[in-house]
Amino acid sequence: MLGHGTFAKVYHSRNLHSGKSVAMKVIGKEKVIKVGMMDQIQREISVMKMVKHPNIVELHEVMASKSKIYIAMELVRGGELFSKVARGRLREDAARVYFQQLISAIDFCHSRGVYHRDLKPENLLLDEEGNLKVTDFGLSAFSEHLKQDGLLHTTCGTPAYVAPEVIGKKGYDGARADLWSCGVILYVLLAGFLPFQDDNLVAMYRKIYRGDFKCPPWFSSESRRLVTKLLDPNPASRITISKVMESSWFIRSKEEIEFDA
Ligand code: ADP
Ligand code: MG
Repeated sequence: MLGHGTFAKVYHSRNLHSGKSVAMKVIGKEKVIKVGMMDQIQREISVMKMVKHPNIVELHEVMASKSKIYIAMELVRGGELFSKVARGRLREDAARVYFQQLISAIDFCHSRGVYHRDLKPENLLLDEEGNLKVTDFGLSAFSEHLKQDGLLHTTCGTPAYVAPEVIGKKGYDGARADLWSCGVILYVLLAGFLPFQDDNLVAMYRKIYRGDFKCPPWFSSESRRLVTKLLDPNPASRITISKVMESSWFIRSKEEIEFDA
């Protein structure tokens, strides 16, 4: 087993005809039907078919038995970005390369009208060369699912990474909400801990609403500026993805990847 989530277990598997290794996500139908998530699984599959990009895990094949759904995907062997951060914060040059790859994948998704909605280091995998691959489109949405107001309305995601307007339940722009999560991820990569933390969930949400966080002293002034623009609690004034790609911190040339011990 490579990993697991709420409904799925992911196994290292082999195609007996080609001999090739794949990652097989196995989902139990019974549990999924019980909680009414079948549509969401179908959406995960259609979305993965739509988004072919070097920084997005590729879907190979989907199969089903009476009791299970099997999603065969590209096997990514370097583990979760999460475990890398758990060993300590990254240097800015290393964080920049991952962040550039993340933004490239998310820009591609948004251009296809796909919003991920659960971006966090557990859903970012690394291949053997250290390239980032976005996975787990299990909570994603299509732009065709927008209500008449042009907004998404499902509150979902992981509390520490979720944008204030998603908690707010008044509808939100999927692209701006994904960018907030990218801001939390960038902060975590550079800091080694979360920007909004509290044992009490309500207190944590309050911090998220206010955009109440501090950058540690080791952040460069450029990274501090970008994180602050991404973690703007007002989605209307939050930096857009095209401006992120033009920002001075983002466009610095790639340097050798080194990690803090
Ligand atoms: P869930 O929807 O239940 O959260 P995920 O799709 O996130 O399931 O998969 C659970 C875990 O399995 C991931 O966090 C990761 O550790 C591992 N995993 C998922 N996809 C792959 C893959 N293509 N290659 C290697 N490991 C994977
Ligand atoms: Mg997951």
